[in-house]
Amino acid sequence: MPQRPAPATALHALLAALCACGAASVFAADPTPSHAPASTPPVAPPAQATPPASGNPQAVIDRIKAAIESRQGPNKVQVIVGESAGPAPHAAAKTATAHAQPRKARLHKAPAAGAHEAHWSYAGPHGPEHWAEMKPEFGACATGQRQSPVHIDEAGTLQGPAEPLVFNHQPSGGSVINNGHTIQVDLDAGNALTVRGSTYQLLQFHFHHPAEEKVNHKGFAMVAHLVHKNDQGQLAVVAVLIDPGTANDLVHKVWTHMPLDTGDRVPLPPGLIDMKELLPQDQRYYQFMGSLTTPPCTEGVLWMVMKQPVTVSREQLKLFAQLFPMNARPVQALNGRVVREGK
Ligand SMILES: [Zn+2]
Repeated sequence: MPQRPAPATALHALLAALCACGAASVFAADPTPSHAPASTPPVAPPAQATPPASGNPQAVIDRIKAAIESRQGPNKVQVIVGESAGPAPHAAAKTATAHAQPRKARLHKAPAAGAHEAHWSYAGPHGPEHWAEMKPEFGACATGQRQSPVHIDEAGTLQGPAEPLVFNHQPSGGSVINNGHTIQVDLDAGNALTVRGSTYQLLQFHFHHPAEEKVNHKGFAMVAHLVHKNDQGQLAVVAVLIDPGTANDLVHKVWTHMPLDTGDRVPLPPGLIDMKELLPQDQRYYQFMGSLTTPPCTEGVLWMVMKQPVTVSREQLKLFAQLFPMNARPVQALNGRVVREGK
């Protein structure tokens, strides 16, 4: 996709974030429960990290892109996902690869000698078709029969009454990380979803461009994945589809605090994030069982795709797209799975 200079407004927000925290880096987002434990040491803001590029918006974008690209190889850190919102972690959830491991912010990262472990990506030799070949623990990406994302065709959905999703949200703090795959917000505890007799805590949300899901053969510009986990370690992901349109206040806040360097973490002011600003008014949804859409593609994830899209402005979309031109896994076969459509 052509890389045109970002609009001044979006870049001003970016620059403001850059100057405010001094951290430079990227993002990463996907349904991977890459929620880092609350005990993760915060990254000290490298106040002098802002180079002369701060006066040149395109230079900032270029630096961010360079930072993203530089993380494709040896700098990846894999950790076992820790618990942050519940006791009794489930084994499957704990083995998920986390890309949120904070590291010291550096503008130029030297590759770790001898650590040339390839990292998964969205295209090329490490793209989705090759994830399973990269590591034994990624096997489900190829052999799984209940993988995500999926194409939801209402001609084939199971239609009937569905229970309402009961969200319990409150303004929360947290931090924004750039894991190299997406921009992700790790939220402080205090937000929950109750569905199917279980209460799930919201751990993190992140974005894909374009949306990974398709509905009635329609694609969407973006999607936000809200990753929840219950006390049994089971995952529930709410997908909020996003079309271009009116700017979204929550996205504005997240983009304002966007880390610019891969692996960096930018803290959010307490109470800044109110999930109500991201969810659609109409809370009908599609429901099905699926998987993480990133390695290790772990199955057993309860998915709820909200039927009504929300909007972000074209500037908001463009800013993300400049950093992540394509971070969506292709749709996967349903293999006879039931997709329930709540009326
Ligand atoms: Zn996702």
